[in-house]
Amino acid sequence: MPQASSPLALHGGPKAVTATKPAHHRWGAAELARLTAMVDQPSLFYWKGPQTEALLAEFRRTYPLQWCMPCSSGSASLHIAVAALQLPPGSEVITSPVTDMGSVIGILYQQLVPVFADIHPHTYNLDPADVRRRITPKTKAIMVVHLAGNPSEMDALMAIAREHNLFVIEDCAQSWGAAYRGKPVGLFGHLACYSFNEYKHVSSGDGGIVGTNDARFGPTLSKWGDKHYDRVTGGRNPETLSPNYRISEPQAAVAAAQLVKLPDIIAAHIRLGSRLLHHLQELALPGVVLPQIDPRDTHSFWFCLLRLEPTRFRCTRDEFVTALVAEGAHAAAGYIPKPMYAYALFQNHNFFAGRWPLRDAGLTTMDYRTVKCPVAETMLTEGVSLPISPAMTDELIDQTASALAKVARHFAV
Ligand SMILES: *Cc1c(COP(=O)(O)O)cnc(C)c1O
Repeated sequence: MPQASSPLALHGGPKAVTATKPAHHRWGAAELARLTAMVDQPSLFYWKGPQTEALLAEFRRTYPLQWCMPCSSGSASLHIAVAALQLPPGSEVITSPVTDMGSVIGILYQQLVPVFADIHPHTYNLDPADVRRRITPKTKAIMVVHLAGNPSEMDALMAIAREHNLFVIEDCAQSWGAAYRGKPVGLFGHLACYSFNEYKHVSSGDGGIVGTNDARFGPTLSKWGDKHYDRVTGGRNPETLSPNYRISEPQAAVAAAQLVKLPDIIAAHIRLGSRLLHHLQELALPGVVLPQIDPRDTHSFWFCLLRLEPTRFRCTRDEFVTALVAEGAHAAAGYIPKPMYAYALFQNHNFFAGRWPLRDAGLTTMDYRTVKCPVAETMLTEGVSLPISPAMTDELIDQTASALAKVARHFAV
């Protein structure tokens, strides 16, 4: 292995990472068996379809939620959850500005107002103290995002919700297998949402599931993702508006097989992510700020997100990442390029053909051009993400840590 003092690969030196990521077959015999069984079915419709039923049974092994709606994406699951709350137009939903668009799409389509609260500088999840500061009389819900696989501070967030009579939706898209104080994320709030998109721990290409144990929302949950048709009674007299977000049997077949593997997939993410973090803790590189994980919790390491203190390096974050990638490491700058409220969509309030009917109607005075979440802004300019995959070998993980040390020492002030 090259010494830390050898020239950067970027400058023609030997690469710190010589191990490659072996080809990874995420889908195989188990998925094929389900798909083969599926093509003999008389129907590929989701409602009581055998693959969808199998998906539900597998899901409930980890997430015992009485009412569930398997759907077409994580974004769909979140839209269904938000719609099921039936909040009056203009109600505010507090969420993180460091998340996927999927978190806010449903909020906006339901004519509600996403209110962005700042994040904790070391967990990158919602800071309960800032959530509290952003509460107004119009606040009706909190959408908690468990980022990267690290559980949010659910005790504090649920206490705020109880105090202010708010609903809580958990966005668990990045946190399959994560647990807060030993209990899987998704089992704390009123509704829980998960994604099966290409990049998540378990995948059917696309897909999602939303679930609840709350009898106020459960019985109508499937209607909110199925045109508001009532599949239980067969009634077709929608009393309100809902999109069609149904999953299909082919997606459900793959997702069901994936969920059988969930414990093994999560175990691999946790083992490799913890190994990487352990190396970085031992290296204690000045200026490399590691993510904070409560020892009572389980981080399921969808990726490992760390920060570089700008004053400690003679290079920019992007130059650091370029050097790291040149070493052969799997790494990327930041997570999303800027906090969600800084996206053109929000800056221009361009939600519906260049307008925001809520504002036009006087139901909100929100101006996203004035929103500031300083911790989120800083984190996104300083962050480096290291993706974790079950395909990675211990050697690759070890060399990734060495590469980080090599680059950090090279650029140290
Ligand atoms: C991936 C993701 C979503 C959206 O999931 P899709 O299945 O891509 O629609 C929502 N929230 C978070 C935090 C995500 O990472």
